[in-house]
Amino acid sequence: MSACVLDLVREDLRDFGGYASARRAGVNGSVWLNANESPWANPADADGRLRRYPGPQPAPLIDALAGLYGASPEQVLAGRGSDEAIDLLVRALCRPGVDAVVIAPPTFGMYAVSARLQGAPLVEVPLREDGAGFRTDLDAMVEAALSNRVRLVFLCSPSNPTGQAVGPDAIAAAARRLAGQALLVVDEAYVEYSEQPSVVPLLPDHPNLAVLRTLSKAHGLAAARIGTLLADPALVRLLRNCQAPYPLPAPCVDAALAALAPAALACTRERIALTRRLRDLLARRLAQLPGVARVLPSQANFLLVRFHDAGAAFERLLAAGVVVRDMRAVAGLGDALRISIGSEDDNAAVIAALDPDGDA
Ligand code: PMP
Repeated sequence: MSACVLDLVREDLRDFGGYASARRAGVNGSVWLNANESPWANPADADGRLRRYPGPQPAPLIDALAGLYGASPEQVLAGRGSDEAIDLLVRALCRPGVDAVVIAPPTFGMYAVSARLQGAPLVEVPLREDGAGFRTDLDAMVEAALSNRVRLVFLCSPSNPTGQAVGPDAIAAAARRLAGQALLVVDEAYVEYSEQPSVVPLLPDHPNLAVLRTLSKAHGLAAARIGTLLADPALVRLLRNCQAPYPLPAPCVDAALAALAPAALACTRERIALTRRLRDLLARRLAQLPGVARVLPSQANFLLVRFHDAGAAFERLLAAGVVVRDMRAVAGLGDALRISIGSEDDNAAVIAALDPDGDA
């Protein structure tokens, strides 16, 4: 099974060993003089933990992420945010000018940015919008992949910025149709807020499926830059060789491990539940405002909102010190703003700024 996923990797990289860093040498000793590190800790480094290069994929973090996501450590690649995994996938699977990437706009911008940087052609299968909100046409994405020279299909679920999610049965069916042709990458950056489950349990049966997760959203660690790719172990091994030599700064690994300890995780779970309640409350309040044309249903920690005059709404929010994401430059979202779900006070500030009858 594993051999087949490597067929999707650029042929010139299939046996690529990457950089042989000092931490990957697999040797042991007590006097470490193989990495040109300083023998002394910096005076600012109180416990002396920053003197040495970190391990490329520290086992305690990989084990903790595997436990968190219900995978085996061999399926886990940790990196600098899921942004890094997106970039690695495009670089390792797509030959410039030849192998294309399928996306469903409007969607998260980094898929197109990474494709552009690699010179990988982009095939766009726009989302559809109807009375129920946006819908991902996964069948059309698969068709587009099969009828073009496509190596990667990025499915953002729940979708940023449109909020809808795709169920596991449809994802499994799409992965089956793409087997041997393309890797289906499900970006689950917001799955903690969704009613749809993660598709990580599908991975063992679908070697051409990969999942992106992150500690940046629900776990509140955006500045630590810890993202995870979960995929077939053969692909994970290959991508480790394509990564920077020491991709995970030690203080960030420490922060992630602390965030994955039981007490912190329990707190995170409560905040996810609270965010979902606050999201539904904010959606109802916004929908009652006269300036709001439509609040799109959301499975994530933000709302996409169409306004009668989005520019004026943006300015009113800004004048009140509330910064939201202006989506007006995005095709199909010329009247829309994306509003992250904040604390109760943050959300009250949004309503106060937009409500013509409010006190503000
Ligand atoms: N995927 C999606 C859908 C996102 O919205 C984001 C960040 N906005 C990312 C991936 C990147 O997250 P990070 O690099 O912080 O893990």
